[in-house]
Amino acid sequence: MAQRISQEEGLRLFKEGSLEELKARAVEIRNEKNPANRVTFVVDSNPNYTNVCNADCKFCAFYRHKSAKDAYTKNCEEVMEHLQYAKDAGCTTVLLQGGLHPDLSLDYYTDLVRNAKARFPEINPHFFTAPEIYNCAKVSECSIRDVLQALYDAGQRSLPGGGAEIISERVRQQVSPKKMTQGAWIDIHKTAHQIGFRTTATMMYGHVEEPEDILEHLETIRQAQDEIPGFTAFIPWSYKRDRTALRRSVKNWAGVDAYFRILAFSRIYLDNFDHIQASWFGEGKETGVSALGYGADDFGGTILEENVHRATGFINKANVKGMVDMIRSGGYLPAERNTFYDILRVYKSDDEVFVPELQKNQEADQVRILDMATAEV
Ligand code: SF4
Repeated sequence: MAQRISQEEGLRLFKEGSLEELKARAVEIRNEKNPANRVTFVVDSNPNYTNVCNADCKFCAFYRHKSAKDAYTKNCEEVMEHLQYAKDAGCTTVLLQGGLHPDLSLDYYTDLVRNAKARFPEINPHFFTAPEIYNCAKVSECSIRDVLQALYDAGQRSLPGGGAEIISERVRQQVSPKKMTQGAWIDIHKTAHQIGFRTTATMMYGHVEEPEDILEHLETIRQAQDEIPGFTAFIPWSYKRDRTALRRSVKNWAGVDAYFRILAFSRIYLDNFDHIQASWFGEGKETGVSALGYGADDFGGTILEENVHRATGFINKANVKGMVDMIRSGGYLPAERNTFYDILRVYKSDDEVFVPELQKNQEADQVRILDMATAEV
């Protein structure tokens, strides 16, 4: 078992280690954690309920102010049409997210969850990122914990990890000072873990951050996972610059090697994370497949619908067969999972699909998480 490395050692390794060294160490850890040579994916969709937002994040091309001609906010029935579309396509997860709408209060969000759970029981509502939870609490004049508990009571069991960007006050001040307050993203995830949610941790790099900011980000989520476990996976992606306000002030765009370095390094550093996700969607199919050789064991989702990357002109598409073919082309065994990383199907060959008894370990995990969740956030 590889030894945990400190933040100082990590910074040195991240800055000075060769990509080959990082790759070799990451693959060794990946194989220890995942001996089956399996790469998982989820059949999912990422629709949006509103693009109205006043946070003005400089890297975002998706949002509109409320008065804009192309601003939209969907009612519950309209959102359910997206879930029906997802259900018809065989999705098991819908990641629903939106801008930080100044008028939508808690009832709007809990209605979405309740309706989704009642009408589409085969789909896990993986709804609302931390900034949306933060905004809902502000608009509804209640606490973060109240919002999360209400969503949990409505039937929600997982949260997506978007909105983290880089957890460093220096970076936050430069790219998204109006979105949340300092430390809010990690506090929301810790509170969610205490209540019993599983969540993901993300990182958007390749803009104004320095290596020190990346280490601070990884150290923050590693500590949180030690304190109150609940992260299922870490998912990094690169900043997409087109049509964003930040594009003119960013000089050093991150290339493919930077992506491989971050994936491999995160696999080494995040020793308490089970899964690291490489993205065919966010980085392109060829890069995505190559990235599986840098310590990742998950390939993200099929993403039936998506509008946030699309707003920057970055468009990629794949279906289940496409995912299976991409994973096989890298030399791995494709397996479909659900949001909680339970394996649903293993694609052994074109003619043989193995369906294991679904391990209902989510309940047991939640008991373990609640036992360990002693700290007040
Ligand atoms: S990233 Fe989210 S919070 Fe920021 S402007 Fe875009 S929609 Fe709003």
